[in-house]
Amino acid sequence: MALVRLIYSSRKADGVDVPDLLRLLDKSTANNERDDITGLLYFTNNTFLQVLEEDVLPVNQLYRKIIIDMRHKEMNLIDYSFCIEREFPDWAMGFIELDATSIKKLCIGIQPIISIRELDSENALLLLKNSVQLCIDDLLILNETKIV
Ligand code: FAD
Repeated sequence: MALVRLIYSSRKADGVDVPDLLRLLDKSTANNERDDITGLLYFTNNTFLQVLEEDVLPVNQLYRKIIIDMRHKEMNLIDYSFCIEREFPDWAMGFIELDATSIKKLCIGIQPIISIRELDSENALLLLKNSVQLCIDDLLILNETKIV
């Protein structure tokens, strides 16, 4: 098995609204669970950043579908590399939508803070990993609140 990690960015197409995104997310989660593809779809300011991890063949097949999807445009392949292990093993298709404050928190360690569209592979991966950590921290805070 040759595990690959693919990261790209793109911009949401005009006219695509929240229900469209939710449908897309449902379908993607079901498909990715079925195909053992892990990853994360990050969305902010009309921009997507997605990471996909699995064997070469399923990742390539999915990427071919995503490329021709009219719900987004201006795709930019940031990283396509072979890797030893998954960075997002527990996420069939995590979806993270962030506001400006959260983004500032996430950008710690990423210098200088630049637009998603300009991220290189190293910083794109760092941003996605920070996003997961932020979600976990928020969940912990929620849990603590519930217990109190
Ligand atoms: P189908 O059965 O062919 O389609 C299912 C339904 O999805 C259709 O009825 C239609 O309503 C809708 N749909 C499908 N394609 C389009 C389209 N091009 N434009 C508008 N509506 C459409 N798919 C994944 O499986 N995993 C992912 O991680 C993933 N990430 C995505 C990230 C982004 C930013 C975008 C824009 C799309 C992503 N997709 C993802 C969707 C992908 O492009 C294909 O639409 C999807 O994989 C088709 O799955 P299917 O063959 O099972 O669906």
